[in-house]
Amino acid sequence: MAHPGTVSMRKVREWACRGHVIEASFKVGACPRLAESCAGGGASQAEVIDTRWSFRQGLEGFPLIRLKASGALQLECQRCLSPVAWTVEVDCRLTAVGSESEIREVASPYDTVVGGPDGLLLRTILEDEILTSLPMAPMHSHCAGARPARFEVAPGASRPLAGLGALMRQSRD
Ligand SMILES: [Zn+2]
Repeated sequence: MAHPGTVSMRKVREWACRGHVIEASFKVGACPRLAESCAGGGASQAEVIDTRWSFRQGLEGFPLIRLKASGALQLECQRCLSPVAWTVEVDCRLTAVGSESEIREVASPYDTVVGGPDGLLLRTILEDEILTSLPMAPMHSHCAGARPARFEVAPGASRPLAGLGALMRQSRD
């Protein structure tokens, strides 16, 4: 199965019972929310996220999914606004339930994913997990180390402190 978009809850339960594993690759450009957080809106995101989904039966009878994902994203450096490479490494465990009301029955320490009428949307789950793992303010290491005094403003970027220097000179005069 190359691109398992949606998996019905019946299938998820069946896979959990027999310890099924699926592997799939997701193009970043085909994941809208992920692409949005990439440099340039991800328009040219040919990068691929490789995923591995292991299903098994959880203690409470709910399917337990272990998701491992790896790949690379080009995020936007928050200081110089040019792309900065970010390595995706996700390894998480999720309890799958069929409805919101079932969440109350889950006592496991893992996050819960809720299957809609169509089942589980694997791409949405993947996007959620990667987005929560991304840094709040991605930055090149050399940009992160730069002192604000050497802050170079990219053309077209907003310059909230642009008038400050002039103000300070005025107050000294
Ligand atoms: Zn930078």
